[in-house]
Amino acid sequence: MHITIVGTGYVGLVSGACFADMGNKVTCVDVDTRKIDSLKQGQIPIYEPDLAAVVERGIKLNLLQFTTSLPEAMASSNIFFIAVGTPPGEDGSADLKYVLAVAREIGQNLQNYAVIVDKSTVPVGTADKVRVAIQAELDKRGVDIPFDVVSNPEFLKEGAAVSDFMKPDRIVIGADSDRARQIMGDLYQDFSRNHDKVMYMGIRDAEMTKYAANAMLATKISFMNEIANLCEELNVDVEEVRHGIGSDSRIGYSFIYPGCGYGGSCFPKDVQALVRMAESVNFDAKVLNAVEDRNLAQKQVLFSKVQRHIGDLNGKTIAVWGLAFKPGTDDMREAPSIPLINALLSAGATVKVHDPEAMQTSKREFAPKHIEDGLLVYCANHFDTADGADAMVLVTEWKQYRQPDFDLLKQKLKQPLIIDGRNIYNPEKLKQLGFVYEGIGRR
Ligand code: NAD
Repeated sequence: MHITIVGTGYVGLVSGACFADMGNKVTCVDVDTRKIDSLKQGQIPIYEPDLAAVVERGIKLNLLQFTTSLPEAMASSNIFFIAVGTPPGEDGSADLKYVLAVAREIGQNLQNYAVIVDKSTVPVGTADKVRVAIQAELDKRGVDIPFDVVSNPEFLKEGAAVSDFMKPDRIVIGADSDRARQIMGDLYQDFSRNHDKVMYMGIRDAEMTKYAANAMLATKISFMNEIANLCEELNVDVEEVRHGIGSDSRIGYSFIYPGCGYGGSCFPKDVQALVRMAESVNFDAKVLNAVEDRNLAQKQVLFSKVQRHIGDLNGKTIAVWGLAFKPGTDDMREAPSIPLINALLSAGATVKVHDPEAMQTSKREFAPKHIEDGLLVYCANHFDTADGADAMVLVTEWKQYRQPDFDLLKQKLKQPLIIDGRNIYNPEKLKQLGFVYEGIGRR
């Protein structure tokens, strides 16, 4: 099949590369000329495990191409995926300007029947807006070309995006025509050979499914963070509680880790967008509002703990391990490291940071002045951050941070204080080694 993917970011590039890996001919389109130029030379603009090899294979087999010209890509294809960003607008609702700009461009260039697939996470009712935008352009041209708009939300996780795309739990297709359902079913049949993973539903149902999935996961995290904070007040170890409740098959162990708040390009913006959707129909989304509030508060918890232990932070040095919003990615969007580091810098501390993949992307998040003034220091490895530091704060649970040489760490720290934002260390062991340890919700 000939596929065009518009938007070559985390979702578009992974989807395009994986469709090409299945033998389809794929053209990835993006307005970002630098991104397309580097992809043409085989350079991957993001860090995502296994992606480089899949892209390289696609290019070598001439199945995967990159361009900045949507009309050029459209000439040979009849399935167009819209995979552009849907960032929060000023009021927190999903901003559809990129999605609708692509829809208009498709309408301006459509020559034959095509399926237009919303892969971006978009509010309920967006497919109708995409349809109207395309039809308006066709009307301006005075042409009558049939097309279908389909919702096919993406559930991949950054850090495991290629394997999630290749082996999805489910493939949700919201469609209202048999022709579109048939084309989408053919496209996905080989991702579903073990058992049928394709779920057909109404377009609005599919749009809502994506938000409900992310909101449910965010709810689990915020719920567990709330329990963890309560555990601290009641002298209870949340890790015992986590094991105790996870063993209940109705609850399960996944996504109930307490921590320093969820980040990333999806959960914060999607929970907010769902709240705004609720408001638009005068629905009071009590749970979703609480999920968001708890998360915003949780992102302050690490700073409070550092301050409680150290007091005045002016002139102190704090080591931070992990910048990315989670391991396995260089994505810094809404990462809990950002409010922590900004608060430390505002309090007059010097912050020494390390991340295996996100150091470059993180530089966009902080005022360059802090780096120039030597107050925000990027270190070549995680132990270097600890040289003369008054505390080490673990923010992102990268594998390489899990079993560090604690003796070496203790030698380097000025004060043997560890604040563990992900509860990955054993408090008893660290106490025996002479550290002052504090996790999230631990006794
Ligand atoms: P991204 O910011 O990484 O990529 C979006 C790309 O679209 C950018 O490269 C941008 O230059 C390009 N773009 C913008 N306007 C364009 C236009 N008119 N024509 C061509 N390209 C254009 O975004 P992402 O993380 O890939 O997310 C894309 C969508 O998928 C969002 O709606 C997001 O919520 C959703 N989603 C993301 C993830 C994830 O883990 N990142 C997972 C599931 C769903």
